[in-house]
Amino acid sequence: MKIIIIGGVAGGATTAARIRRVDETAEIILLEKGKYISYANCGLPYYIGGVIEERDKLFVQTPEAFSTRFRVDVRTENEAIFIDRKRKTVTIRQSSEDTYEESYDKLVISTGASPVRPPLPGIDLSGIFTLRNVTDTDRIKEYIKSHAPQKAVIVGAGFIGLEMAENLHTQGAKVSIVEMGNQVMAPIDFSMASLVHQHLMDKGVNLYLEQAVASFSREGKGLKVTFKNGQSISADIVILSIGVRPETSLARAAELTIGPAGGIAVNDYLQTSDESIYAIGDAIEFRHPITGKPWLNYLAGPANRQGRIVADNVLGAKIPYEGSIGTSIAKVFDMTVASTGLPGKRLRQEEIDYMSSTIHPASHAGYYPDAMPMSIKITFDKKTGRLYGGQIVGYDGVDKRIDELALVIKHEGTIYDLMKVEQAYAPPFSSAKDPVALAGYVAEDIITGKTNPVYWRELRDIEMENKFLLDVRTPDEYSLGSLPGAVNIPLDELRDRLAELPKDKMIYTFCAVGLRGLSCLPDIDSTWI
Ligand SMILES: Cc1cc2nc3c(=O)[nH]c(=O)nc-3n(C[C@H](O)[C@H](O)[C@H](O)COP(=O)(O)OP(=O)(O)OC[C@H]3O[C@@H](n4cnc5c(N)ncnc54)[C@H](O)[C@@H]3O)c2cc1C
Repeated sequence: MKIIIIGGVAGGATTAARIRRVDETAEIILLEKGKYISYANCGLPYYIGGVIEERDKLFVQTPEAFSTRFRVDVRTENEAIFIDRKRKTVTIRQSSEDTYEESYDKLVISTGASPVRPPLPGIDLSGIFTLRNVTDTDRIKEYIKSHAPQKAVIVGAGFIGLEMAENLHTQGAKVSIVEMGNQVMAPIDFSMASLVHQHLMDKGVNLYLEQAVASFSREGKGLKVTFKNGQSISADIVILSIGVRPETSLARAAELTIGPAGGIAVNDYLQTSDESIYAIGDAIEFRHPITGKPWLNYLAGPANRQGRIVADNVLGAKIPYEGSIGTSIAKVFDMTVASTGLPGKRLRQEEIDYMSSTIHPASHAGYYPDAMPMSIKITFDKKTGRLYGGQIVGYDGVDKRIDELALVIKHEGTIYDLMKVEQAYAPPFSSAKDPVALAGYVAEDIITGKTNPVYWRELRDIEMENKFLLDVRTPDEYSLGSLPGAVNIPLDELRDRLAELPKDKMIYTFCAVGLRGLSCLPDIDSTWI
């Protein structure tokens, strides 16, 4: 069987290697329009920042080594420009502008995604970059070397934007982030993103939220970035990380079906509307396991998994793909930000009824050195407790907790399953009540009505004359700041000071992380923030 794979990085290279591992006889041609295959896109920001020191480390495989090990005909700088489905051929352009045709029995498209570059005035000025591949990386690295930028502007606060913010900061630049939305990191809710905002500001990053860039222009040797509201900031380098779009031009020209989300439509076996052509990775859309609706998901894990499945299916298997819930993680300076499944805002958009709970446990036993706080928000079905999503912002131990949540969500588990996960425990690693179990316990209390939380949006909308805000922290903590209008009665004094509480208002109790606020509940008629 002759198999052509278009795209030689995450999905494409995985497919090629797996096909060879399963079938020694298949003829495999791997087409890649760039110079490199199988490189670490995810590592590019860290090479720019100097954390990864050697450029060679970015290459998981070279074309030559891959070709030798897997007997794959690797053709870099060979761009597929047309698929003739009737004749089952691909027209290929070499960098020399020569074109030729190659026939296939099966074709796999793994063309990835391309960065969005809106047609703003001045967008093509030198010093403005997008980051997608090694060539972009080399350009940015060279520019930093030759210009030593003092001021960097990142447009777009997704995970690549934030990784670049950190890495340019490491290189000595003063960094500003401009974001059209009201928060960084779109996959998490505003309440969780606020923790990241604070951390970025603590690191000296200027955060311009709800600001859209209108134009770029020259300003001396540097650049001027002007917002729609007329405000402008100066920059020596600009990184655009506004988002990406699935690279579907080949598929569209071949009249393969493109789905409603804009990706190549595939069936459960990752076959396109032409059964001889499969598609994987950033270029496809696939139904979300919770909403059932197709969505685009630009992550390396799913691309690799789909590559493995497609390799087997191309060779005759019938393995279905189950879909991705979008589990992701990013390092943002000292913080780790992770999410899986659906946050509150997506559930609201989808009109799925849900509840949420947020807790702030420590990464490991508080009495063992270096325990760090983390915030975990989970979303779940009000009646069944089915877990819809999880978000964690913290420092240490975020990665293992998000993966546990992802596992439960992927297996359609509930908040009750979170309590059953058995975590390995010793003081340096966790607590006897692990944060994931705690998230389950709190959610159970909420769902069964044992606690009655009020969410910050609800509280904000209640008039002050109808609420009594009771801060049960210590006077020292209270002196550092509290909710406007709150009255401080420390929890340990509360039993003796009950007379100070009003009888005609709902009392909203709160503390630092929810534990002391919750401890008030049996004693007084209150609700918990
Ligand atoms: C800077 C950066 C950081 C990232 N960090 C993370 C991370 O931390 N975690 C994570 O999960 N994901 C991360 N990602 C996303 C992840 O890299 C992608 O989801 C994944 O690579 C998608 O795999 P793919 O095979 O679909 O596309 P890609 O790996 O992008 O490969 C597509 C390839 O197809 C080639 N191609 C396109 N059209 C043609 C054509 N017509 N002919 C020949 N070749 C063609 C392209 O040149 C490209 O090399 C990051 C991406 C970037 C850019």
